[in-house]
Amino acid sequence: MNKKIEELTLELASIRGVVGTKEENHVVEKVYEKFMNMNYFKYHPDMVKYVYIKDDKLKRKSVLAMVKGEKSSSNKTVILIGHTDTVGISDYGNLMEYAANPLELTKKLNEVTLPDDAAKDLESGEYIFGRGIFDMKCGVATLMTLVETISDDVENFEGNIVFAAVCDEEGNSGGMLSVVPELLKLREKENFDYLAVIDTDYSAPRYDGDDTRYVYVGTVGKLMPTFYIVGSEAHGGDPFKGIDPNQIAGAITNEINLNTKYSDIAEGEVCVPPITLRQQDLKTEYSVQTARTSYLYFNYGTHISTPDQVMEKVIDGANLAFQNVIDSLNAEYRKYCNLSGFPYEKLPWKARVMPYEKLYNLVKEEKGEEVDKLIDDLNEKLLDDPNIDERMFALKIVEEIHKMWSDKDPVVIVYFSPPYYPHIYVEGKNPLEEKLLNTVNEIVENTESKYDIEVKKFYPYISDLSYAAAPKETDAVDSLKSNMPGFGVKYSLPIEEMQKLNLPVVNIGPFGKDAHKFTERLQKDYSFNIAPKLVYDTIINLLK
Ligand SMILES: [Zn+2]
Repeated sequence: MNKKIEELTLELASIRGVVGTKEENHVVEKVYEKFMNMNYFKYHPDMVKYVYIKDDKLKRKSVLAMVKGEKSSSNKTVILIGHTDTVGISDYGNLMEYAANPLELTKKLNEVTLPDDAAKDLESGEYIFGRGIFDMKCGVATLMTLVETISDDVENFEGNIVFAAVCDEEGNSGGMLSVVPELLKLREKENFDYLAVIDTDYSAPRYDGDDTRYVYVGTVGKLMPTFYIVGSEAHGGDPFKGIDPNQIAGAITNEINLNTKYSDIAEGEVCVPPITLRQQDLKTEYSVQTARTSYLYFNYGTHISTPDQVMEKVIDGANLAFQNVIDSLNAEYRKYCNLSGFPYEKLPWKARVMPYEKLYNLVKEEKGEEVDKLIDDLNEKLLDDPNIDERMFALKIVEEIHKMWSDKDPVVIVYFSPPYYPHIYVEGKNPLEEKLLNTVNEIVENTESKYDIEVKKFYPYISDLSYAAAPKETDAVDSLKSNMPGFGVKYSLPIEEMQKLNLPVVNIGPFGKDAHKFTERLQKDYSFNIAPKLVYDTIINLLK
């Protein structure tokens, strides 16, 4: 089995499938073809099918395959997922042509200078390099091989497995999001009793020199709190007459960026603090006038905080930042007046921060139906423009709604930009969670190997696992929907379906390093010999 996984890993890694390109389908079609050549599926061709992303210009698709155990008529079913796409390959520079040729690439890398750790791993011969080999062709090969092994002995297999090889994971998760409703339909049709979702995406060292192998029961989530900042413009020669939205943006960054105060901690596992992914003013031309508006957004990881709670925290943070700006402006203005012999008068600014939902309600009170008409028209116009992405779409709506408002004083409007990935915290609070936790803990404990394998609670890299569930609390979902302009128009999530699926998740991945870097590499021994056994044992024990 291990040799098979290795060969299939190399075969899949040799087919380029960069996210957001037509090539993605090449990998998916290879997966489909492989299944169709397996004995079980020759007899059951109806057990493999494509699932298309809805309205996708590239017509991308995923593969859904299932095996029904014949030992007894158990309804118990485990879902397996793996993504078939990879990130781009431009990071390989002049070695780009070898990115999808792991064996050649591993040789070629001898001719270039590498970071110390990568050079050491290359020399050791224990690693193979290549785009996607670690993230996550090896994981897909593992699951496919396990499906084959199980299906070859289906008479002695109890329970069922459903495997989804999904596309677009490194992009907008279009694959997984189109598969979620299919999984519900399948549950209905086959009367499946889903137990858990197993992913085999990569697992890497958590710090320099970390040699532990990790299994994660649960996953991190992600939100993108965004701040639309309206200041007051001024002439560059008379700057105290205004309030600079760039200064407020800077203060918000100072307050929130990489500040562990905003990190979720659950069971001692600390989420990475927020970091800005964009910060800019919205002035379109050069002039000596200061900007009137600016905006910024953060990547905000979560372990336990729901959207409404994150909203509350960042509003508090922005208020603090805004007040700091006003205080420091007053202090500097006083100094400036003293130095110049001018009379000082306190500046008129007041810190104001509100969620988008509140802005919308205030404007609606003033303008009535006109607001919704404006949003409808805007939606139509913006959807037609291929250059407007989900983030820009949300921003344009906020800008236009704010423009309609009679109140022109400085204010910070907080909203969520897409995407949203719910965290999944497997606490053990229901039978499914308990079963998954116990099963995984037991297997890891009883697996003999030279590696130190640890079970953790939150897979730390954003992945499709997030879509196996969604928060149940109405407040959480409401806060998300009413504070994400364009939700359901430009950006959609099958939230109800995710809530219905509601499964605990685990990631049991191969080991390697430098995902998304040209030194991406897979450690062969653990990845081909140990991790697959952990996955197999988890499937079998869950279905027992
Ligand atoms: Zn991945």
